Amino acid sequence: MISAEDSRRKPLPQPDADTAAYWKGLEQGRLLLQHCLDCTHVQVYQQGLCRACGCDRLEHRAASGRGRVHSYSVVHRAPGPAFRHDVPYAVLLVELEEGPRMISSLVQGDPAAVTFDMPLELVCERVTDDVTLPRFRPAGVKEA
Ligand SMILES: [Zn+2]
Repeated sequence: MISAEDSRRKPLPQPDADTAAYWKGLEQGRLLLQHCLDCTHVQVYQQGLCRACGCDRLEHRAASGRGRVHSYSVVHRAPGPAFRHDVPYAVLLVELEEGPRMISSLVQGDPAAVTFDMPLELVCERVTDDVTLPRFRPAGVKEA
């Protein structure tokens, strides 16, 4: 059961030992991807094993920060009080230049102008002392 107070706060990821490097990277403005040294698979969501071949020889490398809209949805009705002032906003399925896809959201752009294949670039948005979130803006937009 979610209390009324909780519903006014946005849910945040909880960094743990497995994901600490990932969150530290975002804090430093870098989106770290896990590259498999055995089969060359690239994954964004952090885990101890390669999702393609199961080996544990994974290496962090910073993503270019470039990607494209693979799919998206524009949210007009806030899922809870915490998001009341954000609507409308665009939830994105971003295909990174390196291959993996990740869920994110649009910043510094018009949600109504999002299109499939639209070029995007990474924005590391610090939301608390412990959490910096990977978001995306339309490519070529000047720093706000
Ligand atoms: Zn592998």
